[in-house]
Amino acid sequence: MTALSVAIPCYNEKENLPELHRRVTAACRASVGESYQIVLVNDGSTDSTWETIRNLAADDHHILGANLSRNHGHQLALTAALSYCQGERVLILDADLQDPPELLPEMLRLMDSGAEIVYGQRRSRAGESLLKRTTAALFYRVLEKLSDVAIPRDTGDFQLISRRVLDVLRSMSERQRFIRGMIAWTGFSHVRMPYDRAPRFAGHTHYPFRRMVTLALDAVTSFSIRPLRVGLYLGAFLCALAVILIVLTLFWWIVFKPFPGWTSLMIVFLLIGGVQTILLGLIGEYLSRLYLEAKNRPLFVVSELINVEAGKQRGA
Ligand code: UDP
Ligand code: MG
Repeated sequence: MTALSVAIPCYNEKENLPELHRRVTAACRASVGESYQIVLVNDGSTDSTWETIRNLAADDHHILGANLSRNHGHQLALTAALSYCQGERVLILDADLQDPPELLPEMLRLMDSGAEIVYGQRRSRAGESLLKRTTAALFYRVLEKLSDVAIPRDTGDFQLISRRVLDVLRSMSERQRFIRGMIAWTGFSHVRMPYDRAPRFAGHTHYPFRRMVTLALDAVTSFSIRPLRVGLYLGAFLCALAVILIVLTLFWWIVFKPFPGWTSLMIVFLLIGGVQTILLGLIGEYLSRLYLEAKNRPLFVVSELINVEAGKQRGA
């Protein structure tokens, strides 16, 4: 049985791969000897990432390479990587070396003392823009308020999980995946490991603002139905307000003369129209996700695999 698997999704990371391989290999050797596996998934890169993975795998049977047929996005690429992990423990890592593999021994130690999940919590985020840092900070705090499960704040996918957690994770077939939340959802005992996030070794982020918004919406919609209730509360509030306004207007009409009301009517009209449209959009967000889930397509498509046999020989 393999002691440790490292799951790494890679999108346009060719400059990072050799250094990543060197540092991950050193960290694995130092902590578990030869009993480890590095799962590299190429997520439809447009550079030579796949060729680089191939070359690395040709000289190192610890590497299992999987090539996705096209770009599937970070969370699905990671899902693919996890599906090939055979280890007793699994380290989830980004390819850009923002999360130092050298923390592996400490994470293993924390797991030895009884936890099923060791999650890295970012104390600082070097080399990331002010916009990214503030939106991330805001996002984790809003999610904390909305979510029904406690998802630890400032935590990425840099986590060490046990086989038990992995098995539960694998049984969750949802398409809108917010994996750090799904790990927290399993509810197994967890322990925090604060660390400083390094800048990328090379290349640039693949999470532009648009993708961050999608991830945030996926996170909120898959971990909370509270936003749907906003409509209910807001509707009740507006009805109450309407009753008060009706009474006041009638009073005014009886006592004085008809109410010259174009401006006030217009304001109320626009406000209610805007609120209704937002709520419809919100329902649309949930509905579209329901629609995508209902299709039940496979989560990812693999076009090529390397060193799977080598993995099997090592006892999986
Ligand atoms: N990634 C991926 N598919 C994508 C985008 C990103 O597999 O479509 C990988 C990327 O190669 C990296 C990880 O996901 O290993 C995190 O991406 P990135 O470093 O760009 O995100 P950030 O750290 O800036 O949030
Ligand atoms: Mg990164």
